[in-house]
Amino acid sequence: MTELSCEVLIIGSGPGGATTAALLAEAGRDVLIVEEGPDLTIDSAPSYSMAELDQKYRNGGLNTSFGRTPVTYIEGRCVGGASEINAALYHRPHEGTLEDWRREYQIADFGLQALIPEFQQIEREMSVSRRADGLSPSSQTLIQGADKLGWKHAEIERFWKYEGAPAGQIDRGRRQSMTETLIPRARAAGARLVPDTRVLRLVMNGPRAVEAHAQGPDRKRVRIRFEQLVLAAGAVQTPVLLRRSGIRRNIGDALRLHPMMRVAARFDHRVNDPAFGVPVQQVEQFKPALTLGCSHSSPPHIALWLGRQVPERQRIMAEWQNVAVFYVAVQGEGRGTVRALPGLGEPLVRYENTDRDHRLLGEGLHHLGRLLFEAGALQIMSPVDGEAPINTPTGLPRLLDLPHKGIAVSTIHLFSSLPMGEDRERCAVDSYGRLHSYENVRVHDASILPTSPGVNPQGTIMAIVRRNTRQMLAGGGRLRS
Ligand SMILES: Cc1cc2nc3c(=O)[nH]c(=O)nc-3n(C[C@H](O)[C@H](O)[C@H](O)COP(=O)(O)OP(=O)(O)OC[C@H]3O[C@@H](n4cnc5c(N)ncnc54)[C@H](O)[C@@H]3O)c2cc1C
Repeated sequence: MTELSCEVLIIGSGPGGATTAALLAEAGRDVLIVEEGPDLTIDSAPSYSMAELDQKYRNGGLNTSFGRTPVTYIEGRCVGGASEINAALYHRPHEGTLEDWRREYQIADFGLQALIPEFQQIEREMSVSRRADGLSPSSQTLIQGADKLGWKHAEIERFWKYEGAPAGQIDRGRRQSMTETLIPRARAAGARLVPDTRVLRLVMNGPRAVEAHAQGPDRKRVRIRFEQLVLAAGAVQTPVLLRRSGIRRNIGDALRLHPMMRVAARFDHRVNDPAFGVPVQQVEQFKPALTLGCSHSSPPHIALWLGRQVPERQRIMAEWQNVAVFYVAVQGEGRGTVRALPGLGEPLVRYENTDRDHRLLGEGLHHLGRLLFEAGALQIMSPVDGEAPINTPTGLPRLLDLPHKGIAVSTIHLFSSLPMGEDRERCAVDSYGRLHSYENVRVHDASILPTSPGVNPQGTIMAIVRRNTRQMLAGGGRLRS
């Protein structure tokens, strides 16, 4: 058995955990980060490769929720969490969303004005910027279609740093994930990081958490003592860990997500250049309820979204540069639960889209289809299992009547499993992320967003966590002085 002790234990090293660790360590706190996944560099494997799925994705990316329409979901599992595998798109949230959260969940000292200094700091420190290497052909396709329809669109900024390239080469820049930014900062300030170690259970003594029991490499048992505990294991794993530890009130009862669907479209000219990575353009016209955008479109991804139903699959794949994948994401109003499977302790996620969400997925696909035909698409692959491709705009209305089965709904954005606020009937943590009824436990990750933000969430998570960590340092966390 390995014994460790610290002043603040942080479980999970994604955007929530890394932000907390950097701020606390730089303020002179004794911080220990425990991370289940391996400690790897951002370029330990090519983006979206099989090797990356093995190294950095939980269960190789294959997780699913149960419900009328199953939703597959992806979680990162490595130092840096999902920031190591994501597209790094950055948004400030809509002011109205923050205002709804403040009012409906009774969150103190909250709103866009209160968070603006946090967003400004994040934008500076994380090199939030527009592309310096031009727009990909699929982004240009999206722009062309949106312009023809008179729809607003925008290039989305990213956590991305450009430092110049050798003469004659294009500067593609570098994703500013946690292992590139806040993890090295936390370590430089003295934080200790223990990778490959999964916390299995917390030990409570009345209103205080006192120990964490974990499993390290070679199934070695690890016991960690601490004064303050920060949970940052993500919107699925944080509630599961609490429930495994016997803490259940309002834990994992209100999971939200952004349901997404994708379609591949074929053109008579090149629309796909993998050198650009994930394209950055989104249609703004229907936000925040609906977002349309371009997806990663490497040949294996195209093959995935062609579906089984396209007989001329091989011919299409032979011309893969003329094919790109696009998505629709809904600001989901559905709800789900996260439970720990008895005996195993692994998550069991249930989620139901509302009828409105299901309808919006269909409407979003219909909008996307119109846009793609306006941009010159020859053919749009149906997202419904067994249905033939759509070859003209007259075939689009069938997308408005999606079945509940036989469609691939997925998500990469999960939140709200422990909503924050003073309304104790439905909130798990208070206005600053402190677990209600416990003295020394905080939650600093995607779990605490009260509902779906309707925009790529990492910026919002980091801003709220920064605010809560600063409140912790100001004395609200009763840290040892
Ligand atoms: C493929 C993909 C693309 C995305 N693209 C974008 C994007 O472009 N823009 C955007 O804003 N958002 C994007 N997101 C979402 C964003 O990455 C997440 O919202 C964000 O990373 C959540 O941060 P977090 O700190 O809550 O948790 P996570 O990033 O999930 O980190 C949690 C960490 O905790 C660790 N952990 C879990 N359980 C334990 C345990 N028991 N013991 C120890 N460690 C544990 C995990 O291994 C993980 O590393 C994307 C997500 C994915 C998966």
